[in-house]
Amino acid sequence: MAFGVYVHIPYCVKKCPYCDFNSYGVGDIFPERDYTESVLNELEMYAELLDDTHLTSIFFGGGTPSLFEARNIERIITKIKNTASPDDNLEVSLEINPKTADLEKLKGLKGAGVNRVSFGVQSFSERKLKFLGRINSPDDSRSILEDAVKAGFDNINIDLMYGTTDETPEEWKSDLEEALTFKSTHISAYCLMIEDGTQFGNLFKRGKLTLPAEDELSEFITFTTETLEQSGYEQYEISNYSKPGYECRHNMLYWRGDDYLGVGAGAHSHLKSEGRGWGTRQGNIKNPGLYMKSVRVGEKPLDFCEELEKHEALEDTVLMGLRLNKGLEFNSLRDSYSVTPDEYKIGYLVKGGLIEINGDSVRLTEKGNLLSNAVIERFLDSLSPV
Ligand code: SF4
Repeated sequence: MAFGVYVHIPYCVKKCPYCDFNSYGVGDIFPERDYTESVLNELEMYAELLDDTHLTSIFFGGGTPSLFEARNIERIITKIKNTASPDDNLEVSLEINPKTADLEKLKGLKGAGVNRVSFGVQSFSERKLKFLGRINSPDDSRSILEDAVKAGFDNINIDLMYGTTDETPEEWKSDLEEALTFKSTHISAYCLMIEDGTQFGNLFKRGKLTLPAEDELSEFITFTTETLEQSGYEQYEISNYSKPGYECRHNMLYWRGDDYLGVGAGAHSHLKSEGRGWGTRQGNIKNPGLYMKSVRVGEKPLDFCEELEKHEALEDTVLMGLRLNKGLEFNSLRDSYSVTPDEYKIGYLVKGGLIEINGDSVRLTEKGNLLSNAVIERFLDSLSPV
């Protein structure tokens, strides 16, 4: 079975106002050496588990993993590869903020074993980048995307974001069109989400942040899918498009409900093999200092570890499956959970244009995605025992 390792690097130059990831704006002061040692030591704690896996992907996410030196990234990759049994086509992805890398850094990362780079471009519009509080400029993104090709990468993702205050369809169109001028094999197009506890979340609660209306967003999404499909990208997940064969293997693990081990501050894991029944979900201590302290004294740096109940495993399966383009298969619901949707109840979701059924599978529509929490709740309600 496919298995992935996620490595979390929690440091960023500056915290973006919309971001609710476990990331900390630290300028250029961060304990790279100690943190790398902690990750290596934490991996050692899972040597037995890793030894037993068929490793298909490693993903460095954050935070901003590109702040770390290539030689430290290489030490972590080597440790994982030496402990697990890597697949011949092992995917090794690393997220890069365009401001924090150059050609030399990219060459170093390639030499370190990274074979997929994911650039947090978000936009080529000065206005949007300023609004989003990003440290990268449009020119940073343009030059790093060209450097990625010069460094020899042929598996490149561009992250883009739409749905910012006052954003016009023309502004989004121009972002997509510029992204298409680079040789990327993958484009992720995310809608700006307002999360509790973020600067934007606080502004929104006080009525100081307005966002495009739902029907405007629907228009953005339809345009995105049409434009990218015309340019040879396939939508394989609600926000993700790739050239054929370039789907992100690591993200597919999450969406298919496969196992992965997360290391680093705040990283989550899903381990069926470690738990009985419906699997185990665990998460590390979020605070990087406390995470490192825990590893230093030889303890697994866990914040929580819980065995999943059947209904939690089912919720995860529905949540992930409905977002995939190929959809959630009714067969797998019957075989794994002995449940099936009540036709009458899901009929309302179909009529409302929120889900669509293709043969034996069901998926969210673009409209359904904008209301995904409510739709998933209704879908779960519709399930009854077979
Ligand atoms: S660079 Fe990414 S991880 Fe860091 S604060 Fe911004 S959005 Fe969050």
